[in-house]
Amino acid sequence: MEKESTVIIVAKADSPQSDIDAIEERIRLEGLKPHRIQGEHSTIVGVIGSCSPDFREQMEMFHGVERVIPIDKPYKLAARGEGRPSTKITVANDTVIGGESFVMMAGPCTIESREQLISTAEAVKRAGATVLRGGAYKPRSSPYSFQGLAETGLNYLEEARIISGLPVITEVMDPGLVETVSRYADILQVGARNCQNFPLLNAVGQTDKPVMLKRGAGCTTEEWIMSAEYIMSAGNARVMMCERGIRTLEDYTRNTLDLSAIPVIKRLTHLPVIFDPSHSCGRWHMVKSLTLAGIAAGADGALVEVHPAPNLALCDGPQSLTFENFSDLMEAAARVAEAVDRPIKPAAIAAA
Ligand code: PEP
Ligand code: MN
Repeated sequence: MEKESTVIIVAKADSPQSDIDAIEERIRLEGLKPHRIQGEHSTIVGVIGSCSPDFREQMEMFHGVERVIPIDKPYKLAARGEGRPSTKITVANDTVIGGESFVMMAGPCTIESREQLISTAEAVKRAGATVLRGGAYKPRSSPYSFQGLAETGLNYLEEARIISGLPVITEVMDPGLVETVSRYADILQVGARNCQNFPLLNAVGQTDKPVMLKRGAGCTTEEWIMSAEYIMSAGNARVMMCERGIRTLEDYTRNTLDLSAIPVIKRLTHLPVIFDPSHSCGRWHMVKSLTLAGIAAGADGALVEVHPAPNLALCDGPQSLTFENFSDLMEAAARVAEAVDRPIKPAAIAAA
């Protein structure tokens, strides 16, 4: 099936005013908005909104119409576009996502206790991480699994932020909790399962917080970008995209890291691209290789799960790195990042 798209209608040269008015009236009848650009001998009418393929065909036959040119991309704000600079998102002090440095976000999947979070924050900072991750509200597949510490977890996150000096990223799942989570988070995470939760996208779009939008495991590139467009059209331009693995026929790994998504999103949009090797593979022993590959592929940052004792983790232990393994990953990551001119510069929320 053909996709919907926006079109530009070129009127026949020297068309009388009445023809142009009729074209505009027909556009309005469709529930769309005409935007007229009047030349000396010709007129073009831009159609604002998405037109169905039927409407496009009808307009081609419409009196006074010379041509109908589809503009294929249904996203406007996220599109790279000629001369549009790449978006740089300043999170805190020196932490810029999409800038010269590669940004390493690391921490536990889930905040389990004060000690677990603070020890992990200190360890990832020592190893050179730039942002601390940790979930307080968890999207678990089973209602019987640990669901997260909710606001208690956010309080620990606040403490870990102050102690480590690292800005923090945490997930928000419910539009009704966006305000609460925004009080603690430097970056709001929209998880894969909520990539097409449009009320949530609208709600985070109304905040002034940077948003990391994870790709739905079953979302195409265009669907994922359209979700970013939702956030941006609600007023928040500070969106970064996160590839976290998609569903394929492969079942050795939890998901399949779509490495291609990194250059694809870079080409189609001006937004920073992060990737998540942990959820992509679901196995700790693959996380280092995938991280190095993602850096080499041109990503702006990575999101890696780290736990003091992965074998005791309440969530995602099999994909979590020990402090030692994370430190080993960081040494290799720093070398690859240097080789592709994206040095990893540790940064902090306050001069510590
Ligand atoms: C997470 O980052 O902890 C998480 C739940 O990820 P995803 O939404 O990609 O599954
Ligand atoms: Mn996880």
